[in-house]
Amino acid sequence: MTVAPVDSSPVVAGAVELGLPVLGSLSPSRAGDFMTCPLLFRFRTIDRLPQAPSSAATRGTVVHAVLERLFDLPAPERTPAAATALLRPEWERLLEAEPQVGTLFADEVELSTWLTSAEELLQGYFTLEDPTRLQPAEREAYVEVVLPGGLRLRGIVDRLDVAPSGDVRVVDYKTGRAPREAFEGKALFQMKFYALVLWRTRGTIPRLLQLMYLGDREILRYSPDESDLLAVERKLVALWQAIEKATQLRDFRPRRSKLCDWCDHQALCPEFGGTPPPFPAAVPGPDELLPHQVEAALRAAAQQQAAGASSAPGPAAVPRAPIQAPPGPAGFRADSPTVDV
Ligand code: SF4
Repeated sequence: MTVAPVDSSPVVAGAVELGLPVLGSLSPSRAGDFMTCPLLFRFRTIDRLPQAPSSAATRGTVVHAVLERLFDLPAPERTPAAATALLRPEWERLLEAEPQVGTLFADEVELSTWLTSAEELLQGYFTLEDPTRLQPAEREAYVEVVLPGGLRLRGIVDRLDVAPSGDVRVVDYKTGRAPREAFEGKALFQMKFYALVLWRTRGTIPRLLQLMYLGDREILRYSPDESDLLAVERKLVALWQAIEKATQLRDFRPRRSKLCDWCDHQALCPEFGGTPPPFPAAVPGPDELLPHQVEAALRAAAQQQAAGASSAPGPAAVPRAPIQAPPGPAGFRADSPTVDV
């Protein structure tokens, strides 16, 4: 049996190559799975059990796609009407790529109701910022780093903004509910993960982490510092050691919580009277990218190459498109009238 997962992924164009041996790999969602429930991590990452599509997750995918494409438009055209007009084409693109999402809706009426709910999320976005006044440096940016111990951290950042001062803002859109104050730390973990990767690859700690909850029309902001990110790094290394140990022992225990209500795998979970499948004889490398991750990685590489053709930055450089005017505590004001797009 392969115990310690090794890097078996294809080389991703644009990835940061540090020349270090990769012994394991974590994304924010996989790390979150293990922290939530080790057995859930096993089901998703080792057994690779299929997950049924959900209307909420699919809505999130389509809304993210619309917000990414919105910035393809010239700045004055990034209006609520334009976003709404992108909705159905993005749904159809997803349906073509993943036909199983078509099973979510019995008829056109159901689909139409669902599209209306997605439109409401987009309207929520426009109450939070004005996209005609900013120009992202990167969208759906694939980021990764290999830590000295061999743990690869990777993820896809919804949006990176770079202020004229060079300050970086990491933006993530959320289509679920905003967390209560007691759970904000958990929500920010993903953002600190990205901040750590950006710091380790680009040498600068992002000035601002910004979670945008479109449904609740709320923004959660946080300015990380070095001690924050070092703590996250230590936590991730410890998490990976726990995953390695669980893999060696073939012992991923269920951890029952409210999140079980949304788990696809209750029928296989001992907490609900089920029995997990036999542990795989060979543990698949956790580095295998999902199709949308491959697409995003290739798109990011193409963007980097395009930027490189005009300005020849280093391989990990952030394109420095001017965005918003610098006034304000973090230099990122969406309502500034002096934005250069
Ligand atoms: S049902 Fe709950 S305890 Fe069981 S695997 Fe899913 S999240 Fe874990």
